[in-house]
Amino acid sequence: MQHPYLDLLESTDPQIHAALTGEENRQRLGIELIPSENYTYPEVLGTLGSVFTNKYAEGYPGRRYYGGQQFTDVIETIARERACQVFRCEHANVQPLSGSPMNQAVYLGLLEPGDTILAMDLSHGGHLTHGAPVSHMGRIFNFVRYKTNPVDGSIDYDEVLEIARKTQPKLVLCGYTSYPRDIDYDAFKRIADEVGAMTMVDASHFAGLVAGGVLENPFDHGFDVMTTTSHKSLRGPRGGMILCRKEFAARIDKSVFPGLQGGPHMNVIAGIAITMGKCLTPEFGDYAKQVLLNARAMAETFLTEGVSLVTGGTDNHMIVANTQDSFGLDGRVAEELLDAIGITVNKQIIPDDTNPPLRPSGIRIGTPAATTRGMKEEHMRTLAGWMVKTLRNPSDSVLHASIKSDVEALCRQFPVPGLD
Ligand SMILES: *Cc1c(COP(=O)(O)O)cnc(C)c1O
Repeated sequence: MQHPYLDLLESTDPQIHAALTGEENRQRLGIELIPSENYTYPEVLGTLGSVFTNKYAEGYPGRRYYGGQQFTDVIETIARERACQVFRCEHANVQPLSGSPMNQAVYLGLLEPGDTILAMDLSHGGHLTHGAPVSHMGRIFNFVRYKTNPVDGSIDYDEVLEIARKTQPKLVLCGYTSYPRDIDYDAFKRIADEVGAMTMVDASHFAGLVAGGVLENPFDHGFDVMTTTSHKSLRGPRGGMILCRKEFAARIDKSVFPGLQGGPHMNVIAGIAITMGKCLTPEFGDYAKQVLLNARAMAETFLTEGVSLVTGGTDNHMIVANTQDSFGLDGRVAEELLDAIGITVNKQIIPDDTNPPLRPSGIRIGTPAATTRGMKEEHMRTLAGWMVKTLRNPSDSVLHASIKSDVEALCRQFPVPGLD
């Protein structure tokens, strides 16, 4: 058990204790290849379970609505300053409770209901909060969507420009949840400038790669706003951050509090401060580089094995594989087969998917978590090989059992931070 207090649970709440122990073992003996997940730092795990969770701190440092803020002000100020340093931006708000409220805060703070936002289509890699019809934001704002190019699966910037000219958005939003390439920020900025729109990137998936200097930094290309979750490639606690130019700072802060939220989660903000500190070390740059090398090694193995990948490869931390074409299996079946051998991935809709969302044609695979455990290219090749073997032989339970024990043996060599 990672935290001494948690031993108490064994006698006070054995049901929860058993589930927690089960999850620890699942994480210990299997490998997490969902691209949006990671294993956070032991210090962050500790901070999340610290007394900062007891404290209300509505407001911002120096301007709070409750007393007793000597130490909350210290951590929030440090978190903001470090975030600005990491991303080379003028202002940071570290209070969003997670990724979804962070994006809501930007839309509601910078736009009026009914305004037009240009964003990536959900089935082509955009996020739910980028105006999917099932999201509340999709009812409040007028989202128009660009898709990826049917030939090579990349963003077609000419098409984005054409849609922008036609629909005159107030906000041009880029960023993705399922897209294995980097973004041409200059192209988006030119498009936004031509129609007089603000620019926003939702870097939730890849902010760690920006922080580590291996993907482009949108602020180097004149972007107005960047949002990011803190728990994906950044390796922090579950939370959200809004980074922006000074001229938007007051509107963003007001929008988060009191516009959308009440008390910030100070235990999380302490974890964000620690995470931003880690991002400023040379080791984090090495980590980000290795995330990319690992994704490339894995993609190469899949391609050698004849697996069909969306965009034919990867420039970032993720791979989107078409399991329907490659193995005759939909993404749900592939996800379940891999889960059974201790490899966790997620089913994924692919561009213009003809299968329904709960039985899509692909899976999404990512390397941030495996890289945190210290795995390198050779381990990625091995894992990719096991995945291909399993999916090629979906009913060979003897084979699956033997691969499962190989996965466990590999995982035992790479402890999860904070466990063991
Ligand atoms: C994960 C993600 C979010 C949402 O984050 P939650 O913390 O799950 O609410 C928003 N945008 C993108 C691009 C994401 O990948």
